[in-house]
Amino acid sequence: MPSRFSRSVNVDDFVTVNRRRLLGALGAGAALTTVGSLFSRSVWSQPAFGTNPFTLGVASGDPASDGFVIWTKLAPKPLERGGGMPGKPVEVEWLIANDEAMQQVVQKGKSIAHPELGHCVHVEVGGLEPARDYFYRFAVGGELSRVGRSRTFPRAGAAVAQLRFAVAGCQRYEAGYFTAFRNIAEERFDFVFHYGDYIYEYAALRPGSKSAWPIVRTLPDEPGETFTLDDYRHRYAIYQLNEELQAAHASAPFIMSFDDHEVVNDWAGETTVKQMPREPFLLRRAAAFQAWYEHLPMRRAQLPKGPDILAYRRLVAGDLLAVNVLDTRQYRTGTTCGARVMAGCAEALEPNRTMLGDAQERWLYGSFKSPGARWTLLAQQIPIMRQDRNPDPNIFGPSMDKWDGAVAARDRLFNAVEQSKLRNLVVVDGDVHLNCAGELKKNFDDEQSATLGVDFTATSISSLGDGIDIDNRLKTLMQQDPHIKFYNRQRGYVRHVVTPERWQADYQVLDKVSTRDGRMSTRKRFVVENANSKLLDG
Ligand code: FE
Ligand code: CA
Repeated sequence: MPSRFSRSVNVDDFVTVNRRRLLGALGAGAALTTVGSLFSRSVWSQPAFGTNPFTLGVASGDPASDGFVIWTKLAPKPLERGGGMPGKPVEVEWLIANDEAMQQVVQKGKSIAHPELGHCVHVEVGGLEPARDYFYRFAVGGELSRVGRSRTFPRAGAAVAQLRFAVAGCQRYEAGYFTAFRNIAEERFDFVFHYGDYIYEYAALRPGSKSAWPIVRTLPDEPGETFTLDDYRHRYAIYQLNEELQAAHASAPFIMSFDDHEVVNDWAGETTVKQMPREPFLLRRAAAFQAWYEHLPMRRAQLPKGPDILAYRRLVAGDLLAVNVLDTRQYRTGTTCGARVMAGCAEALEPNRTMLGDAQERWLYGSFKSPGARWTLLAQQIPIMRQDRNPDPNIFGPSMDKWDGAVAARDRLFNAVEQSKLRNLVVVDGDVHLNCAGELKKNFDDEQSATLGVDFTATSISSLGDGIDIDNRLKTLMQQDPHIKFYNRQRGYVRHVVTPERWQADYQVLDKVSTRDGRMSTRKRFVVENANSKLLDG
């Protein structure tokens, strides 16, 4: 029965829909005849690889109250073109269990890994119970994947006592070891928000290369810059061979976003700082988005259509937290003043500048009037708080690649928050390779003006190398920008612990990423109390 079904998948069924749902929707007979007649090609149902094909690990993502996505990608020879896979579809089995030993199986099914999508597997699992752990595993050709842990969200509206999640991103391979992901794995979070820069597209650097960045290791194969789908696939494979990253994915569901380096440095809308012509850039963006989708636990709604992808979305955890994943790259007006760090950029003040685009702005602001949860989270890429008061860009300065490069867009967001009387707004982001925490002021020039929310910027996993605690430039900036309460330039992640009465943010930093034995500690703790958008020392 399962094998008959697996040969009867709809032509669109490269993402396997929960089998019971599909059969329920169509009626079992219809599924086997009507759908089956639409599509038939030989599926390699008893493959033999000679080696375990689950070299890139497993992952889960986008939790709902009844399930999540589980992901893997077959690659017996991960750094070879095509991952060492033959050019035909392969049938993969999956299991969901109550226990880590995979003894109490609650669901199982089969999915087809297609060569067009690099033999990735995405299963949208449904029918599970809310707010609890599950475990999953894949099998093919007698080979087993590792076991992953995932977790469902609480049901919308249900009372939730506490949620724990991490915010992480910016993991340049050559710049340091991914030790922070080992710490994330050990924490077994409810979820991890990854804000982007999961890969870097640059040509490989070696230790000793001329670079502004400390380089502690080189990419296997020493590839050039990524341009084509195969280039991006190869880059993801290099990154995902990393055991710390695999352990983090296997420990908790990830809510994924992308920033610039999944495509190319500082891209915005249909433009790049190197001013690539639009058409070739969009082809590159399409390749980059496909590789992103193939390698990460995304729902089918996030399958790219050419150069376009729907990456903004909302996930609600009980009555406690509404997670709004934003896309600040794809719908931007374009790069502002070449995305430079500078003062006095006139483009940044243009009233029609947008970060989110009209449709996403409407979607977001429309939710503010009835957010449906105690805390509203904007899970996005780049700092919103102003960092632009220093007139000397040689000291530090406003980056035109961030919200400082689209002041009118930030004002529209703040106006929507204020008009909706939205309380308990928390923004998380990264991208700048430092830790930062600040209050979002209605008027950043007036310390007495209303505080509309708080902004927690997470440092990088490895980008920019070991770093230091704080330097004179950051001290100067903090004096000039009193809404900013904390800076730190070490590597790590931010742990958020959310309850109905308070939000706690712990800045977890490593003493070094240049060796594998970096030690993690809590550098700073902030607390935000319910209905009071003020950063308090925790
Ligand atoms: Fe980065
Ligand atoms: Ca970035």
